[in-house]
Amino acid sequence: MAPFNLTFYSEKNGRKGLVDAIREVCVPLDGDTSCTPDCYRGWEEKLSQISLAKRLSVKSCTHGFLCFVLALPENRNLPDYLIGCVAFEHQGRITHVTRAQTPDASDTTIVKSKQPLRSVSAPEAELAIREISHILPQILDGQIHTLSLSRTTQRLEAVQKLNRDLADCTDVDHAMDIVSEALVVLFNLPRILIVLQKPGQAMTVHSTLGLDPDSLKLDQKRLAEYLDGSSCQPRVMPGNEFTEFFHGLQTRSAHIFPIGVKDCRLGIIVILDLDLHSRDQAMIELLINGLAARLVSLETAASHQQEIQFSARLISMISDLSLVTSSKELYQKILEMAAELLSASSGSLMLLNESDGTLKIETAKGMNPALAKAMSVTFGEGIAGHVAKSGFPMLVNDIERDKRVAYRNRPRFKTKSFISLPLESEGRLIGVLNLADKSNGSSFTEKDLNRVKSFTGYAIPMIARAATLEKVGKFEQLAITDPLTGLYNRRFLEDRLQEEFSRSGRHKQNFCIILADLDNFKMYNDICGHLAGDQVLRKVASLLRRTARDMDVVSRYGGEEFCIILPGTCKKESVFVGERMRRVIEVESFPGESHLPLGRLTISLGIASFPADGVTANELIHASDLALYQAKAMGRNRLVLFEPSLEGKALPALRG
Ligand code: GH3
Ligand code: MG
Ligand code: MG
Repeated sequence: MAPFNLTFYSEKNGRKGLVDAIREVCVPLDGDTSCTPDCYRGWEEKLSQISLAKRLSVKSCTHGFLCFVLALPENRNLPDYLIGCVAFEHQGRITHVTRAQTPDASDTTIVKSKQPLRSVSAPEAELAIREISHILPQILDGQIHTLSLSRTTQRLEAVQKLNRDLADCTDVDHAMDIVSEALVVLFNLPRILIVLQKPGQAMTVHSTLGLDPDSLKLDQKRLAEYLDGSSCQPRVMPGNEFTEFFHGLQTRSAHIFPIGVKDCRLGIIVILDLDLHSRDQAMIELLINGLAARLVSLETAASHQQEIQFSARLISMISDLSLVTSSKELYQKILEMAAELLSASSGSLMLLNESDGTLKIETAKGMNPALAKAMSVTFGEGIAGHVAKSGFPMLVNDIERDKRVAYRNRPRFKTKSFISLPLESEGRLIGVLNLADKSNGSSFTEKDLNRVKSFTGYAIPMIARAATLEKVGKFEQLAITDPLTGLYNRRFLEDRLQEEFSRSGRHKQNFCIILADLDNFKMYNDICGHLAGDQVLRKVASLLRRTARDMDVVSRYGGEEFCIILPGTCKKESVFVGERMRRVIEVESFPGESHLPLGRLTISLGIASFPADGVTANELIHASDLALYQAKAMGRNRLVLFEPSLEGKALPALRG
């Protein structure tokens, strides 16, 4: 409508800048600098009085220019002012002007090309200005909408492409890079904070775009509490409230976008200091939703992979466990493996002592072994005792806050989270497994508990089996062997003798027993010492065993007395065996034996036979004892067969 030089101006640059902008539009084409400072001062005065409420200000100058400042409608995403300048015929002088460089020309200048201004008449100019002030807002609206629509379309296309890129991402960092770059470049966001949180893990500040990371300190606890109590919707927070979560941060406002899908929250993206247009907010949400979907699927894939690795490790652990050779090793391995599966740096394996109802630490990790050995826990008391009694596992995140446990102070442990798991075999409690101090400092999770449960599912039968083996093994050892000589002991002999009675009775077979006693052994001990005496006992035991036949049962009957069962053997045959034994001892040399009355270490033997000399253990032992006494009485180092005539003879306390 009129050849105006035009520019937009935003109030944020201040009134001083507005005067400068006017100066820019009314610079004459030929560089005529005859504009006087007075002219601008006049504008300054005029402008100091105008407000956005007063829409139009017009002023002419002595050089033939007419300038106007038009305040544009508020809240419509427009600059604050349109400034225009036109040359008009004034005192017959025509001046050419052109579009000038404006402070933010790139964004706000409407005049596209450089062209000389045609001069207009003053009324014409004034009319044009009125027209402009009337219709410009409408024109602008349309243009801005078109402009913003095309921009929005462009951004949407970009977001769509980025979401496709995100879907192809194979790692979290790459996905985060795509999103942060988009926020900076596409949405021109100056300051962004990204906090990530993997399920069950501590929060980490992933990036601080446009911020100094060293000046910020995240208050994890407060932020986590706030996020837990709020929905998954984006929201705006006043700066002073948000800075409670980030010490050292200064911001006017914080636009929080949670990264998450349904209940699964993976972090937040916070845009600082910017009032986002709802359209931008929607697009950013779209992008962040794409990110969340990808992060969730990456997380799912990672945990799937972890499950596969876990299963493989479990299988190799189970096969390792089957190779252990003692229950002690088994307990140690079980604790080590459970700790490895949960990354626990301390723990203990307790087994129930059924006789007194206490739980005893069989093996411990991260604890002094001597201390662990000395500790026992009463059923129903303390954490492990409670778990043992209830039969339910305990997963505690924070021992100081958990109402189930009353402990405030546990100096032995580094972290406040632990797992205590009852070990049950066929419905019966056998022990408790305790794990504490996750190596990365975080808390144990439900997943950890399930993992350790699957492991103990395999380990418990092994513990139960080992316990039985141990018990049986111990019983066998305690029951049948004599610790000094390694021969069968008296209890075993008595059992064996009973068997022999019934077996021989059934099969109508003979069997004999030999009772043998070292001669003058008390004297040997007195002369050579008790230790030398023990050595003699060991040596005699091994000689007797070697001399006996495979089927014979050689036992230590008392101090220096031996009893040998000779199954299926008649009296006559037994003499050969007995005599061979006597002879073997007689010829064997023993240290210090020359001091004995016979000049050597010897043995006396008495033999009794089933069924002739007795049909019960007592009868037969008694008979062989009488025969042995007879051998002693006859001068020792000899073998005597029982005969009924020995029965009447008194048994003086000759033998021990
Ligand atoms: P005798 O010829 O009449 O049998 O004379 P003795 O000295 O052997 O008499 P007796 O059988 O009564 O003595 C048993 C001795 O055996 C007593 C004890 O000093 C010794 N003795 C018993 N058990 C052990 C043992 O485990 N180690 C040692 N070193 N000596 C033992
Ligand atoms: Mg003796
Ligand atoms: Mg004796």
